[in-house]
Amino acid sequence: MTPFVIGAGVLVLIGIFVAAFRIGKYFGNREGQVTERKEKDDTYVREILSRDREIRNLQRKIDGLNALNSQYLMFMFKVPTIIQHLNSTLTLRQIIDSVTLLIQDIIPAPFVALYLYNFSDGTLRRYQSQSGSAECSADDANNLELIERAARDKIVRTRNQIRRAPLRENGDDSTAYEYWMAAPILFRQKVLGVIGIGKPQNISGNESSLLKMIADIAGVALVNQTMLGEAKQQANTDPLTGISNRNYFIEMGHSFVEKAIRDGSQIAIFLFDIDHFKNYNDTNGHDAGDKLLIELTSLVSSITRKHAVFARYGGEEFIVMMLGTSKQDALIYAERVRETISNHPFENRESQPLGCISISGGVAVFPDDADSLSRTIQLADGLLYRAKQEGRNRIIAHKTRYFADQDIAPEEIPSER
Ligand code: GH3
Ligand code: MG
Ligand code: MG
Repeated sequence: MTPFVIGAGVLVLIGIFVAAFRIGKYFGNREGQVTERKEKDDTYVREILSRDREIRNLQRKIDGLNALNSQYLMFMFKVPTIIQHLNSTLTLRQIIDSVTLLIQDIIPAPFVALYLYNFSDGTLRRYQSQSGSAECSADDANNLELIERAARDKIVRTRNQIRRAPLRENGDDSTAYEYWMAAPILFRQKVLGVIGIGKPQNISGNESSLLKMIADIAGVALVNQTMLGEAKQQANTDPLTGISNRNYFIEMGHSFVEKAIRDGSQIAIFLFDIDHFKNYNDTNGHDAGDKLLIELTSLVSSITRKHAVFARYGGEEFIVMMLGTSKQDALIYAERVRETISNHPFENRESQPLGCISISGGVAVFPDDADSLSRTIQLADGLLYRAKQEGRNRIIAHKTRYFADQDIAPEEIPSER
């Protein structure tokens, strides 16, 4: 071997080494780049996933706020109508229905009930709207406890009840969360009742404050109803005897006439006046006279049908209006009133000229005896005057005379209560 060949061989070997080194480096670099890119890709994916999560969280928040907004919007939208409605309503039933409807619009729930405080016995009584469904057993002990807590603490109380049903065959967990809520109905910190809600759908988290606002509206409506009811009651009641007054009688007269015309029925009028009442006052004093008026009206009320209108028509003059009552039945009733009074052991009855407290009265019937109610009353008044003239302690009906001494067989007297 010549040195030339050796040199060439060395050169070739060096060339091979260099090439191998280069190739090795090349492949080494490529592997590094791939790993690096992979790491970068992983970071991107992680970032994208986390942004995705954030976006979904934000979307959930937006959905929640939208639900909240629409609840508030619905509330704002419904409130004026409901308040207008509550302003023009007087009955408890209408208030319960209106408040329930408002709740159903804003917090749809299968169970909605108002528990109103009964001030006479200090208990809460459940009232449910006729339109509401009664699918839930509202009065289970837990719910009642929640209602009581809201009334006692005077704040909204909630309860998340877990109903764990047995596992289904496919392994699904059918555990259900039932949300119950109770808001006190307050007026000047006085508890008037509680609104109870069970299992509302789609909880937005703001139900408590919405229910509180609805409970406040219900509070005002209930107070209005009570005050207006009391004012109306006062305007219609005679303060001494507690029976209806002339105003109420006239008001009811209109509706009785409407009903009588519609149903083709009669209205019987019985007008009576206490005999020699001035004498009773003069002999026993005005206070004793007042006491007699109270006792006498309570006695007549006790034998008068609930649906009849019994009113104080003047000082010691009274009127009874009976819808759907024939003249014959009205006479039997009037005679019973007269007889009951004349037999009643009123104090100082013996000081009266007839030896007892007695009345004189007239009976007439619309439309048989007159073509208007006021004309019928005039007729009865004329007959009452005649009864006085004919000796008092008697009832006279239009075209018919009923004298005190005339016997009415007990079997002819219908039960009046
Ligand atoms: P008659 O049998 O003709 O009806 O005689 P009378 O005395 O009952 O009738 P009169 O009209 O002369 O007197 C009615 C009396 O009734 C006079 C009045 O002072 C009295 N009176 C009216 N309202 C009341 C009241 O609220 N309390 C009392 N104590 N007396 C009253
Ligand atoms: Mg009199
Ligand atoms: Mg009189």
